[in-house]
Amino acid sequence: MRVLGLETSCDETAAAIVDDGRRILSNRVLSQLAEHRPYGGVVPEIAARSHLDHLDRLIAEALDEAGMRLEELDGIAATAGPGLIGGVFVGVLTAKAIAAARRLPFLAVNHLEGHALTVRLTDGIAFPYLLLLISGGHCQLLAVEGVGKYRRYGSTIDDAVGEAFDKTAKMLGLGYPGGPAVERAAAGGKAGCFTLPRPMKGRPELDFSFSGLKTALRQQAESLNLEDAQAVSDLAAEFQQAVAEVLSDRVTGALRRFARETGQPGPLVVAGGVASNLTLRSALEETAAAAGSGFHAPPPALCTDNGAMIAWAGLERLQLGLVDPLDFAPRPRWPLDDPTLARDA
Ligand code: ATP
Ligand code: MG
Ligand code: FE
Repeated sequence: MRVLGLETSCDETAAAIVDDGRRILSNRVLSQLAEHRPYGGVVPEIAARSHLDHLDRLIAEALDEAGMRLEELDGIAATAGPGLIGGVFVGVLTAKAIAAARRLPFLAVNHLEGHALTVRLTDGIAFPYLLLLISGGHCQLLAVEGVGKYRRYGSTIDDAVGEAFDKTAKMLGLGYPGGPAVERAAAGGKAGCFTLPRPMKGRPELDFSFSGLKTALRQQAESLNLEDAQAVSDLAAEFQQAVAEVLSDRVTGALRRFARETGQPGPLVVAGGVASNLTLRSALEETAAAAGSGFHAPPPALCTDNGAMIAWAGLERLQLGLVDPLDFAPRPRWPLDDPTLARDA
């Protein structure tokens, strides 16, 4: 079984083909970074137009790289939300048109489910697992009990982690995109030279908060000479350390609850764009080990947005017969624990 997956929900245009032997037959990702950089963030209208300009070519390249023709596919999946609606429409309408023309099953994939299931493509792990989803728009802990079956333990009450990284980069003059820039700067710095708070650390509920950290960082950054590369690196390192400690603290509590409810010690899975951060990965791996839990995270290039994760989630849904009608309406907001995702799976 082979499925083509399209991703157009933010600023990556992507097309990929995966098969049921967990092979990635092709994986084309086009980043729109250069187009958005002058604005310091993603401009929705520019993103949608750019997806429209490039998606057909990327699909042709994905088929070419896999050595396949459209008629050899078993299904076509596209991100149908959550995300920037203009871009989501481009991917969904393209997938529906191909599905209609070739009489292929159409799969409306929740982008977050793509992040959540990628580790089953890369590591082949079984359900259930505890998922820490850390991305540009989300920060959540969920028990993943099956395709479409997510129980949320906690989520951010304000900013997402990726957003915190992006804003930190801006305040420190590190440019856009923020996550990789902060990680690079932090590599040359030392945590502890500055003091930042660890919001929610030690609290019994499993939610997150990053706005206090952002405000504290802004105050420190304002009295800093941004030309002083060492000071900038030290502050970036302290920020990254604060995030690592907060995530580890929340995960420790969540692993305890997960073990209580499922009778299993884990494993912990970390996914989403921020999961490509190597410092955070190793901190979370240690946290899992200390709790006696296994640890899995997709390779960094499959943590940030890509088509393979959408193709794989589509394939998992197709295997369960969870095909979608061609009048499926894209959903700009679509939480992962939405009950419609499970249907009769
Ligand atoms: P969502 O998946 O929530 O809809 P998104 O699709 O826009 O959001 P992703 O592509 O999953 O986001 O992740 C992008 C985010 O990951 C950005 O905020 C980016 O700064 C962050 N990020 C990417 N690489 C790193 C890194 N090395 N360290 C920290 N953050 C990173
Ligand atoms: Mg992106
Ligand atoms: Fe994403």
